[in-house]
This record gives sequence, structure tokens and C-alpha cells, in this order.
Amino acid sequence: MTPLETLVRSHVENVGPLSVAEYMSLCLSHPEHGYYMAREPFGREGDFITAPEISQMFGELLGLWAVATWQALGSPSRFALLELGPGRGTLMADALRAASGHEAFIKAVTVHIVEMSPALIAQQQKTLEGASATTQWHAALDSALAASEGPLIVLANEFLDALPIHQFVRTEDGWHERGVGMVEGKLAFIVNESAADDDVQSYCEQLSSDSGAIVEISPAVVAVVGELASAITSRGGAALIIDYGYEVSAAGETLQAVKGHDYTDLFASPGEADLTAHVNFGAVAGAAMRAGATSFGPLAQGDFLGRTGIHQRAERLAETNPLHRDAVAAAHARLTLPNQMGTLFKVLAVAQPGFTPPAFGSAQTVSA
Ligand code: SAH
Repeated sequence: MTPLETLVRSHVENVGPLSVAEYMSLCLSHPEHGYYMAREPFGREGDFITAPEISQMFGELLGLWAVATWQALGSPSRFALLELGPGRGTLMADALRAASGHEAFIKAVTVHIVEMSPALIAQQQKTLEGASATTQWHAALDSALAASEGPLIVLANEFLDALPIHQFVRTEDGWHERGVGMVEGKLAFIVNESAADDDVQSYCEQLSSDSGAIVEISPAVVAVVGELASAITSRGGAALIIDYGYEVSAAGETLQAVKGHDYTDLFASPGEADLTAHVNFGAVAGAAMRAGATSFGPLAQGDFLGRTGIHQRAERLAETNPLHRDAVAAAHARLTLPNQMGTLFKVLAVAQPGFTPPAFGSAQTVSA
């Protein structure tokens, strides 16, 4: 039994079931035993691999997107480049390297990082040693916003999928929140006896009225996007939100546990598997718009990377490193092809009113 499972069991026995959101947040961010708090989960040896770890092209293209955005904003003399949940820090290191030829950008930028994990902060500091910009770390978005100045250019890759979600189940007598309790001596889903609030009932019922249907709602995602979008609205700037997810709100269960590059049971090893949920991009767009910002896309990741020049970048990389031609081609395919990360992963932009971020020229906007 993992140390976190012992904690969860004793909570269930002494206090009662946890909500799915509480379970998710304990598993990921318990100060001592949370998944992200003590370990480095990325890469071949870890549990999963993210786009910046697949190829340097990903961070480089985002860095050049940040330069183009800064220029389109009128090249402000001070601004904040903010990244949410940078993992090992690879994306930011590649972005700053690609941007380093643009002296005025480098002179104007201060990098701000939001990261809750002390172990990952140490790793990020190592990765960003010698980078061309000064960097400050913050445990949460509010402190990063308070400490930074000027317009914001924000990058968030696979950050929102780690924020807690609530799940609701359609029963004979309406929608009830799902919880985590004990069934026959094991951790398992339970259904709360009391019915969910009226507004949750009516939201869920619009999506399905099938018995057993599940709807996921993430107030944490809405809060983070709202806070970010209102800062962008008042200070100016734009954000790129990249994640796997869906565009149109729908019933369905997407909470998943991954360990050693494979799916595992949600209750098999609490604190030792990554827990994520697909992002509801309609809800993200809605939160941005309610805060007064404009939302663009989401574009499919393959489309966004195509618009920012990945094909040319891959060609050039292969020419300068002929020995790595196959590896570059494989990474290019993995990031962009529809049957790989090209379609499931999506890129949504949040922008100050009246500003169309680079690459989003003719992008459709999902309705909230
Ligand atoms: N962007 C990186 C890592 C994604 S994993 C990449 O693409 O490789 C999620 C990251 O978000 C980790 O760095 C994790 O520690 C951080 N994180 C998750 N929830 C967080 C929260 N509530 N506050 C701050 N950081 C968080």
C-alpha cells in the first residue's frame, strides 16, 4: 500500500468519502506524497512524455510565437513571459534559446514560472541555468501575477489537465456527486446520497439523461483561466493553452491514471501514478470571455505547429544534423499527425480584446 493510500483510507474511515476532486488533488499535490511533489515523472524512464520532451522544435516554435506576439503588441519595453507548470523546464529553455537572437525581446522580458513542486523547481532551475533571461518562481498564479509587471505572454502545456475535476453521476433520482470511499475493504467510487445542487443538475441534464452517465466539471480550471484572462484583459497580452481535450461539453468519463507509459487503475497506487482529465475547451473559452478577454480556437496541435513553421523547422534541423534526420522526422510526425498528438492535443489562445495572436488569424472560436 502506498503511503498516500494509507492516508486516504484513514480519511475515509474517520471523516467520510472524498470528492473525486479532493482525491485527485491529494494524489497529485499532497506536500509529501503527492505525485508531482517528490519525483520527476517525465521522459523515457518516467511515466509519460510531453511535447517539449519529444523535440526541441516544440519549445523553439513557442519561443518564436512569443517573439511574434510581443512584436504584434508593439514591442513593450517590459513584459512578463509566464509559464504554468513547466515540468523539467525544457520548453522554456528551448523557447529562450530560439528567442535569444531578438535582443530587444530578451532585454524586455522577465520570466515568471508557476510551479508547486519543490523537486520540479530544482530541476527547472538546473535546466534554465545560463538562460538568457532572469527567472522568478512562484507557487501559485496569484503571486506570479502580483510580482510581475507589464503585458503578459503566457504558455501552459499540459497544465490544466492536472487540475482537479468533480464527477457527477446520473441516477434514478437525478445527478449526484461521485466520491471516493471504501467498498469491500478497497478504495472505490461511491455515489453521494444527497443530490447535487440545482445548477449542477440542470447543466448535467442538458448533456445527458442516460442512467449511469457521468459529467465532469472543473471549477479549478475555470478559476485559473478566469484569473489569467482578467489579468490579460487589464494588462494586455495573450496566452497559449495547450492540452488534450474536447471542444464541446459532453457527458463522459475522462479521468485517467498513467504509470510507466501505461494506463493503470485509478486506485491502484495513489500518489505514484499521474492522474489527469481531458480539458473542456468550451469551458476554458467561456471563462476567458466572462473575464473580458477574447478566445481563439482551439486549433488542432498539428495545425497550430504547421502555422508556426514546424515543417520548415524540421527540414532545417535535418539538414544541419543529417545523422538525426530519422529522429527529427519521427518527432515531427509524433507532434503533428492526426493519429498521434496532432488532433487530440489542442491549442487555444486567450487574448486582450481587439488583439489577434499570431497563428490564430482565421481560427474559429468554440462557443462556451
Ligand atoms: N508543461 C510541462 C509539464 C506538464 S506536467 C511539459 O509539457 O512537459 C504538469 C506540471 O504542472 C508539473 O510541473 C506540475 O508540478 C505542475 N502543476 C500541476 N498542478 C499544479 C498546481 N496546482 N500549481 C502549480 N503547478 C502545478
